[in-house]
Amino acid sequence: METVQITNVRVNYLPQDPLVSRPAEMILDSGEVGDRLEGPRLRVDDGEPAQPDAQGNYLFQPGTREFQQANSLVCATRTLRLFEQALGHEIPWAFRGKLQIHPHYGQGFNAFYLRQDHSINFFDGLDTTTNKVVAGSESLDVISHETGHAVLDALRPGLVGWFGSEQAAAFHESFGDLATILTSLHDPHVLDKLVQDTGGDLHRPNQVARLAEELSLGINHVHLGGSRPDDWAMRDANNNFTYVPPSQLPDRAPPEELSREPHSFSRIFTGACWDVLARMTEENMRQGLDPRQAIVAARDAMLTLCAHAVELGPNRLKRLGQMADSMLKADRRYHAGKFQGILTEVMMRRGLLSAGAAEEVPALRLERVPSSAPEAEALLGDQLGLGPLPALGCESIQRNGEGETFLRYTQVREVELEPGTSTDLAASLTLGFDREGRLFHRLWEPIDQEAVELARQEVEVRTSQGAIRELPPRSSADLMTADDGIYAGYLVGAPGGHQKLVRIPGA
Ligand SMILES: [Zn+2]
Repeated sequence: METVQITNVRVNYLPQDPLVSRPAEMILDSGEVGDRLEGPRLRVDDGEPAQPDAQGNYLFQPGTREFQQANSLVCATRTLRLFEQALGHEIPWAFRGKLQIHPHYGQGFNAFYLRQDHSINFFDGLDTTTNKVVAGSESLDVISHETGHAVLDALRPGLVGWFGSEQAAAFHESFGDLATILTSLHDPHVLDKLVQDTGGDLHRPNQVARLAEELSLGINHVHLGGSRPDDWAMRDANNNFTYVPPSQLPDRAPPEELSREPHSFSRIFTGACWDVLARMTEENMRQGLDPRQAIVAARDAMLTLCAHAVELGPNRLKRLGQMADSMLKADRRYHAGKFQGILTEVMMRRGLLSAGAAEEVPALRLERVPSSAPEAEALLGDQLGLGPLPALGCESIQRNGEGETFLRYTQVREVELEPGTSTDLAASLTLGFDREGRLFHRLWEPIDQEAVELARQEVEVRTSQGAIRELPPRSSADLMTADDGIYAGYLVGAPGGHQKLVRIPGA
């Protein structure tokens, strides 16, 4: 038998955005870093990788390519591992293989996750006022956000791929920001500063809630003509935005106002979660914890709520409020309902709680919970209390440390939106069984009238924006199953670069 030697590796990294943090050391398991900045799940792809020193450590300074490579690996790895720990199981990516990190993808003030390319990508932009290069790969705020997209896409690959998912795209942005906040809150220096700045009152201005400060400054200087104050941050979780249906909002708005653009709209949910974190911290302090302990306990509770809310949540999000419902559900299951009061109050105030009744779960206990797709597919039908179901394919089986098993099924079907115009929509089913084989969670998302209507509306809006373009025949052949007619499609502004297709009759 082969023995794998696990040692600790010291890596210099920045525990927050470069504008508000100083380099600190992170101790990582050598397996996560490898000898070429390649761990079991993530890999830096940036030409020649940085070489460790003689002791195997990566102690580089900001501003160097080596630092940026190591820093992006550390931040992304931390974010993935946090969510895996919270769920108690591995989170396989939405693709095969490792997530590639491209610390120097191009020039500009940007970053993105692309499922098709299995990558998270960071840019370098010159801030012409400070004359400094703003490297996305130096900012935990940016790296953890993009990794958050990859984690959410892994858990819920259906969220962004379908029409009518405008609010799903906003939730994706919010989840990225929450991933950043929760990752940075695991650094002792960040906690010290947060306690110093707020004394435990998280509604005071602070650097954890404010995101991507250096990138914001660069954008302010280069693209906004310096029109914002110098301490402007593009997103601040400490906000008061409340839910308004996106159809009532403008497509774009100045940063102080809400628009239906996903990054802007996402601030409602992020703000609500920040409120919950602040309220939990307050409650913990009332019960005698000091501010730091109170924040840490709130952080840990928030992490499990966010992670489990996704696992119990919809595969195709129609409204942000569904995730608020899901957080309440996660709290009942994993915290014995301890935070129902805080969650309900905050989510109501933000306009996020839907009045929908909780779905009844039929009494069902299995001798053996399925552990393979064919077994899972044989289970469907009357047993689940859903009547005859379409043929659903099981696409994921996850068992966690508590012995719970989650099964996720999908069926994709072509749906006509207008006479002759069609697209693909998906029905999904999620089941959760406890360690005794009892069904405790069932979420059935059929292709209903609302799903079709949402798709119809989105196609209408996109058509009016001129965003539907004809695809070259080759790419349509690549993307589509055999079908007659002319295909038109467009790239949505959603993370992952998903291509959604509309089939339009031959013209
Ligand atoms: Zn994003």
